[in-house]
Amino acid sequence: MNTHELWQAVLGELELKLSKAHFTTWFRSTFISEYHSGEVIVGVPNSFTQAWLEKKYHREIMEALQNVTDQAVRGLIYRVETKAAMAMPVLLKEEIITIVQPERQQPEDYGFVQTSTQGPQNDAPTGNIAINPNYTFHNFVVGKQNELAHAAAQAVAAQPGGTYNPLFVYGGVGLGKTHLLHAVANEMRRRNPNVRILYVTCEHFTNDFIHSIRIGKGKEFKDRYRNVDLLLVDDIQFITGKEGTQEEFFHTFNTLHQDNRQIVISSDRAPKLIAGLEKRLQSRLEWGMLVDVGTPDLETRIAILQKKCLEKGVALDHEILHYVASAIYSNIRELEGALTKIIAFHQFKNLVPSLESVKPILASFESENTKKTVTPRQLIIVVSEYFDLAVDDLLGKSREKRLAFPRQIIMYLLREEMKNSYPSIGTELGGRDHTTAMHAYTKISDLVGRDDKLQKDIELIKQRLYTS
Ligand code: ADP
Ligand code: MG
Repeated sequence: MNTHELWQAVLGELELKLSKAHFTTWFRSTFISEYHSGEVIVGVPNSFTQAWLEKKYHREIMEALQNVTDQAVRGLIYRVETKAAMAMPVLLKEEIITIVQPERQQPEDYGFVQTSTQGPQNDAPTGNIAINPNYTFHNFVVGKQNELAHAAAQAVAAQPGGTYNPLFVYGGVGLGKTHLLHAVANEMRRRNPNVRILYVTCEHFTNDFIHSIRIGKGKEFKDRYRNVDLLLVDDIQFITGKEGTQEEFFHTFNTLHQDNRQIVISSDRAPKLIAGLEKRLQSRLEWGMLVDVGTPDLETRIAILQKKCLEKGVALDHEILHYVASAIYSNIRELEGALTKIIAFHQFKNLVPSLESVKPILASFESENTKKTVTPRQLIIVVSEYFDLAVDDLLGKSREKRLAFPRQIIMYLLREEMKNSYPSIGTELGGRDHTTAMHAYTKISDLVGRDDKLQKDIELIKQRLYTS
């Protein structure tokens, strides 16, 4: 094994232990500079990375080196060095071109004071957040609240640059938006290994843009973003208020769209509700297909847990899965987190999981969820009582104003408070179309900031809902 292979093996070990973002941020552009009789010098791109590796990852790197070399490592130090040929060693096995700058974090996050003038801000944004090979359509569990998004994403992967361009996926935290974006990339790559894909978060796009301008590489930036078959932009809501970036993104968008290149975007809300978004960009984002992802229902949450158990090679009783899925309903990331915690706890203690042993582990998750333990049906009843209307009338066909407005309030609260998807809101309200629910949500969100009476009504409804 030469030093390059050795380091690749070490990186392989570390990749398993660290989050993708941290791994790529801290280990890109690192390499073994010297290796003599158990003494290792690791070359790092700047003093910032050097300090970070020393402080945070020294033990892990040491262990990985030991595992890989099968012999004692007597010394390990980090030295600021660049090696042109090693620009992106971490990228080698990734098939997909991606661009990212190191995560921006608060200085206190690092646990030490940054004294060097050299830092991530000054580095060329050549690192990457790779497309996660584990985020595929295959392991995406489909339920009522995400089936439209899932189907649209599949359609896009099968026929990029077609009808659904751009595909705009939006919804709350931890509901699978990023997963779907990566799944499109993985699927397109599977169908055509030569496809050119670029995945960025909005923040990376912004940083990359600003950086390129600063170093006079605006043209390279344009070339990079405009010569791809698929551009994925995650969390576009962060573009708000960044005029230069919006302008640049607008032109990137137009170029790609004209060439029938596929664009897929995610956001935590619909384009209309992204404050400070230029009108012309908003309208572009609405050109293709808008789909939302909502919170999964109980069956879907159980199915997700089952799938994750299968992937992790553990078996949990249905009773336990049911319990976990009932306790955690707002967010799939949390659901996964709870499962991981349960598995780790029992493996560590060498125990067989039971309902009794699982319950205390979930206690910390439950408190965050308590507010949402109301069902859509309860909400409908509370609103009908509040306005003194019959439930059947509220769910019925009549469009009388005395019914239509409370109905819109219900739809708004189902979305705002309970994070239901629009199709499921439509269904709850007597089988209405999802566009009706979208319209209601937009309308009431808009009104609520300006109409004191409405604000008061909603406050009171919420009080009744959560205290009754
Ligand atoms: P978002 O981008 O909407 O915040 P993510 O895509 O990061 O959410 O999803 C959070 C976690 O939940 C990821 O690990 C993802 O794989 C998982 N996840 C989300 N939706 C699903 C699903 N429908 N099936 C399986 N796993 C899912
Ligand atoms: Mg995401």
